[in-house]
Amino acid sequence: MTDLLMETCLDKEQLEFTKTIKQSADNLLVIINDILDFSKIKAGKLMIEQINFRPVEILSGVEKIFRQKLIHQGLKFNCRVDSNIPDVICGDPYRLNQVLVNLVGNAIKFTRTGTISIDVRAGESDKTGVMLLFSVTDTGIGINADKVADIFQSFTQASPDITRKYGGSGLGLAICRQLLELQGGDIKVTSEAGKGSCFSFNIYYRYQNIAIAEAALQKETVNKDILAGRRFLIAEDNRINQKLIVKVIEKGGGFADAVNNGAEAIAKLKAGIQYDIIIMDLQMPEMDGYKATRYIRNELSMKIPIIAMTATAMKGEKIKCLELGMNEYLSKPFAFDDFYQSVYNVLPNWLQNAETKDAIAQIKNTPSLFNLSFLEEMEDDAYTIDILQSFLKHTPAELDKLLNAVSRKKYETVTEIAHKLKGSTGLLQISAMCGLLKSIEEGSRIANTGLQSMVNDLINIYPPIEKALIKHLELMAERGKTF
Ligand code: ADP
Repeated sequence: MTDLLMETCLDKEQLEFTKTIKQSADNLLVIINDILDFSKIKAGKLMIEQINFRPVEILSGVEKIFRQKLIHQGLKFNCRVDSNIPDVICGDPYRLNQVLVNLVGNAIKFTRTGTISIDVRAGESDKTGVMLLFSVTDTGIGINADKVADIFQSFTQASPDITRKYGGSGLGLAICRQLLELQGGDIKVTSEAGKGSCFSFNIYYRYQNIAIAEAALQKETVNKDILAGRRFLIAEDNRINQKLIVKVIEKGGGFADAVNNGAEAIAKLKAGIQYDIIIMDLQMPEMDGYKATRYIRNELSMKIPIIAMTATAMKGEKIKCLELGMNEYLSKPFAFDDFYQSVYNVLPNWLQNAETKDAIAQIKNTPSLFNLSFLEEMEDDAYTIDILQSFLKHTPAELDKLLNAVSRKKYETVTEIAHKLKGSTGLLQISAMCGLLKSIEEGSRIANTGLQSMVNDLINIYPPIEKALIKHLELMAERGKTF
């Protein structure tokens, strides 16, 4: 629902608030999953992800979560990131986020006046990766020397009046310590009562994994166009979820037929209605998703792709679904991009079986450099041409200015230009540029790490986009002549 809200007409401030709601909800979901997983730590079953991510984006996300709170409490916030930290590293961004959110949350909770700082430095490195050293420092109440050693124990606070004054359960730091241990790191604290505390931890990260980066790049190129013209059968008993999925599919130009349980889905299939994909909730009254899938595969012998959808965040669930013959698995709430990706993942194989070559070609053409659907909604070709011409005219100069600002370390100017360009590339849905600009904008607010290389990437990817836009303008001009 937040994703849908973000696609409606919001002013700048509303969009910013909505993004923060989304980010907080995402983080909350991760934390809830982590707490669920926490019991797994003891059983030795908690998995640490290995994915590529930009540390600067995590730091900027943490800053955003706490921005309002910091302003409200009149606290200053500093984030210093060593310039020699790799732009992209490979590890678990969610666990890093969780530890930082926990430590910064504590720092704010226990500080009345002064400054909260996050510092990130690079420690020892080798051929495969680098040790990152993080510290979160505050000017708060501090911890008595005799208690410092105990606070990492679960359900332990520095003194009995802490719960009364500040709330909390005494679990946060215990979770942090265990999460860090699982990532081969550790955590320490130095503190002085009345002066403040400094929590520092380290994690060894591998350098960016190219294979994962390529897969991610492919993922980024799948957009809502993948849904166009496809017929979906949705079996889902929750009306709100039904509505959401139908809306997402229809926005992408697909057709959706929603039913309330597995039995109704089977009735539709038996009636001979043709669908391309089934979205199957797992927990449903009358006939659940497992039973329905078994029936579709064994009794009806149908190979139609089935994407399972469930609110259960348990990891074993996915394997169970795949074993039953489902083709993909999405846990609710899902990000739109994950949904498009699942559809993309299940379509090609099935289409090859059905030898629908045209459709395969269509899917292969899907990843596009830009998408003018926002402009086309205006149904005014002159307007579209005007916007495109203006973009082509001004962008090279803006890119030059951006490069110049980065090399002269004028970070405020970098933020300003990146923000402006993000707006125009967003309107034309040039996702490759828009994504980079988002990272550049966020990075320039808090640190200079990786800015130069991101701006270089941006400048390198512009020429093919420019070419494609010019081509599009030419086509539009030709079409204009024939009308
Ligand atoms: P909670 O904050 O829920 O009580 P934590 O495990 O996060 O649990 O912290 C345990 C205890 O450590 C806190 O109750 C507090 O006494 C102490 N503590 C943690 N962070 C700080 C800090 N930044 N400044 C002072 N005391 C802290």
